[in-house]
Amino acid sequence: MNIELEIFSPVHQLNNKLFDERDLLVYTKRDDLIQPIISGNKWRKLKYLLREAQRQHKNHLVTFGGAFSNHLLATAGAAARFGFKATGFVRGDEVNNDTLFMCRLHGMNLIFVDRESYRDKQHLFNRYFGSDEQAFFIDEGGTSPEAVKGCGELINELTETYDHIFCAAGTGATAAGIISGIALHKLNTKCHVIPVLKNGDFIGDEIIRLVPDATNYQLHTDYHFGGYGKTTDQLISFIKQFVADTGIIIEPVYTGKLFYTLYDLAAKSYFNPGDKILAIHTGGLFGLLGMKDKF
Ligand SMILES: *Cc1c(COP(=O)(O)O)cnc(C)c1O
Repeated sequence: MNIELEIFSPVHQLNNKLFDERDLLVYTKRDDLIQPIISGNKWRKLKYLLREAQRQHKNHLVTFGGAFSNHLLATAGAAARFGFKATGFVRGDEVNNDTLFMCRLHGMNLIFVDRESYRDKQHLFNRYFGSDEQAFFIDEGGTSPEAVKGCGELINELTETYDHIFCAAGTGATAAGIISGIALHKLNTKCHVIPVLKNGDFIGDEIIRLVPDATNYQLHTDYHFGGYGKTTDQLISFIKQFVADTGIIIEPVYTGKLFYTLYDLAAKSYFNPGDKILAIHTGGLFGLLGMKDKF
């Protein structure tokens, strides 16, 4: 089977008083529309990994994530779509939620493991699937050179050039891909990376590990709102306002922090008048459903 999705990721302009006043042209690339389950950057990260699995004649994807992991869900969706079996190791006690329900619905077998055992993923893989010749290891979040390559392709799709591209980072692989895509096309675009975790400087190390000659990027480490999966009333009210104003759904774990940063920097006159800015909407709708009680 040919492992390919038709990419539907249009660029939409965001209009409001703030951007008018600052003379900014702000757009978002709707990777969230690529597919409802294999959403956003997760498809880009998985594409070449699935092709590698296929090349090695392995039909069983084995991967790892937390109970709200968009990566687990995307792997389940991609496995179903392209005829693989899938197993997900889930960190922590057995629970059920919308994300895991959707994983199961797509046929993923879930194995819950305590936090201690979860740390050594290769060991878990060997223990459970060491004798399964079909099993193909995919690291947590899909982080890999294949993921960087897939995410870099986002830049090929752009029909305009931008002064700034913004993206949220959990592992930094998506940002690394975008940075390498910008370099490949020799664009004069600065990539702004928003770590959604506390102490996000490690994302910079990760970017350099994946793309050793990375330049022209900027980390914004002060927009984590308390850490991964954490939120504040300020972030929640921003998200409500954004969705009501634009009709574009964002959520507190990744894209809420991304757009908050962009709006905050615009308000603080960080940009030059006339700048063209593109924010990558990396999807993550199911993360929102996991946080309904915060709204
Ligand atoms: C996983 C994810 C990210 C972060 O991607 P990394 O490559 O891990 O940095 C950003 N946004 C959404 C919606 C995600 O699900």
